[in-house]
Amino acid sequence: MNQKTCVFCRILRREVPAKLVYENDQVLAFEDVNPVAPVHVLIIPKEHIGSINEISPLHDGLMGQMVTVAKEIARKQNIHETGFRLVINNGVDVGQSVFHLHMHVMGGRAMAWPPG
Ligand code: 5GP
Ligand code: ZN
Repeated sequence: MNQKTCVFCRILRREVPAKLVYENDQVLAFEDVNPVAPVHVLIIPKEHIGSINEISPLHDGLMGQMVTVAKEIARKQNIHETGFRLVINNGVDVGQSVFHLHMHVMGGRAMAWPPG
């Protein structure tokens, strides 16, 4: 998957519409097009990183920022006290379908553990 065809790069370039939730110089957050919970937001780095397999210590600040942004989104969507789940699927076995790193922020309903 290259940056020309990557759907999340296309959202970053505003070629594909998305309901934007948050943006700064390093990350963009938008609503998942197929939500599986009342709150389902995706946070992506602006840099095209295929998956966790491609990160290095140079990305420590970026990854920390994704968690901080997730916390802030959870607070704004009022799920910070009831609970929310942060998920990064990495690889086909666990259901990664878009190979541009993204963190799911999901909440607003009870969820089972362990996941299927
Ligand atoms: P994954 O399965 O890779 O962890 O998650 C990919 C997520 O991206 C899925 O939840 C899917 O619904 C979402 N998604 C895929 N294409 C688009 C799109 O074009 N726009 C938005 N907003 N979400 C998308
Ligand atoms: Zn991309």
